[in-house]
Amino acid sequence: MNKAIKSLRGFNDVLPQDSHLFNKTLRTLEDILEKYCINEIRTPYLESTALFARGVGEATDIVEKEMFSFTTNDQESVSLRPEGTAGAMRACIEHGLSYNQEQRLYYFGPMFRYERPQKGRYRQFHQLGVEILGIRDPGLEAEVLLMNAEFWKALGISEYITLEINTIGTSEARANYGKALVSYLETYKEQLDADSQRRLTSNPLRILDSKDEKTQAVLANAPVLEDFLDQESKDYFETLKEILTANGLDFVVNPKLVRGLDYYNDTVFEWTTTKLGAQATVCAGGRYDRLVEILGGHATPGFGFGLGYERLLLLLEEVHGKQEAPHAQVFIINDGKVQAQSLKIALELRAAGIKVLNNLAGGKLKKQFAKADKSGAPQVIIVNEELVAQGQVNVKHLATGEQETVSLDTLVSKLKA
Ligand code: ATP
Ligand code: MG
Repeated sequence: MNKAIKSLRGFNDVLPQDSHLFNKTLRTLEDILEKYCINEIRTPYLESTALFARGVGEATDIVEKEMFSFTTNDQESVSLRPEGTAGAMRACIEHGLSYNQEQRLYYFGPMFRYERPQKGRYRQFHQLGVEILGIRDPGLEAEVLLMNAEFWKALGISEYITLEINTIGTSEARANYGKALVSYLETYKEQLDADSQRRLTSNPLRILDSKDEKTQAVLANAPVLEDFLDQESKDYFETLKEILTANGLDFVVNPKLVRGLDYYNDTVFEWTTTKLGAQATVCAGGRYDRLVEILGGHATPGFGFGLGYERLLLLLEEVHGKQEAPHAQVFIINDGKVQAQSLKIALELRAAGIKVLNNLAGGKLKKQFAKADKSGAPQVIIVNEELVAQGQVNVKHLATGEQETVSLDTLVSKLKA
């Protein structure tokens, strides 16, 4: 036998026993998106590297070290998309969907990041993202967050997920704060972790995100962003909080929340859980009013989020346990001489909306019954030459062992009852 080839590290298969939950959950979310009149946009998995360098930011973890980039035969630098916003904005600009209009968009699909694989962190993972363009208003932001809350409610995980929000103000406010932060941190440079030392010059706000304990200890007395915000940003954030409260949505203000991507301003948020260890953020997003312009379009306000789909599925499994795909409702066995009639019956039952497994492999009756048992179907239909000749079949109810002869005319109504 040849040595089998394995999948790449961090690239997962979704096996048949898991795809039911995968698909059902997506349907639940898409049904809600439809009610909010948010339409799907599908963009390529491969884009020009420059798109992400510009759109995500040169000094972010993603662009610095997490992209799958390569040079094509004609010497073009391309990357597998590490996130969905840049591509969606590129498409909107390219097709004239962003200028002077409102757009409500979502995307779903695989993203690729070269990270150290662990539970809830993979190299290919899925995101469902929403991008709302052309509206700068706390009311819109509240609506999106309330829609998120509707997701969790529909999936039965509301009590296991918490909304954290913050405002990071304008880019000027952040630049001023960045200077103050750097001048404070310079004094303690030796106590910072290596990444944070590097970020002193490239992206100081990201230091707030550091998971290093010593760095966090230094940060305890650092200047806070709030003191650098202008009145407009503060008022905007206050209004958002008021609308959320008026709609009964609980939240926690986390002043250290800055988000890893460069393009955010004002509102940022994360939905976090305590059920998934270090990979606690299930869904994250914020306002990005400069991104479209950065990518070469006309200035267009934007607000959106990315939801880590695998983390959501892990949380669902954590809360509800493993969910099996639904069984067949009916298993059909036959005596080997009435294949054509078995097929016809199966077709009729399926047309009536009944889930049918038809045993087409033949075999001894006892073996066929064993298969029926294993299938989990509660009812078995036995088709044989003698009964079919009289327009009848036998129906066996596996739970009670009861068996009855049913005429084909009444089979559907009998099974549905
Ligand atoms: P983290 O801090 O966990 O690395 P992030 O800030 O890099 O997250 P975003 O770029 O905001 O994440 O992506 C949005 C969501 O996508 C995250 O909140 C998370 O749920 C999910 N996500 C991000 N990276 C991965 C990954 N490598 N594997 C699985 N899910 C991921
Ligand atoms: Mg990350």
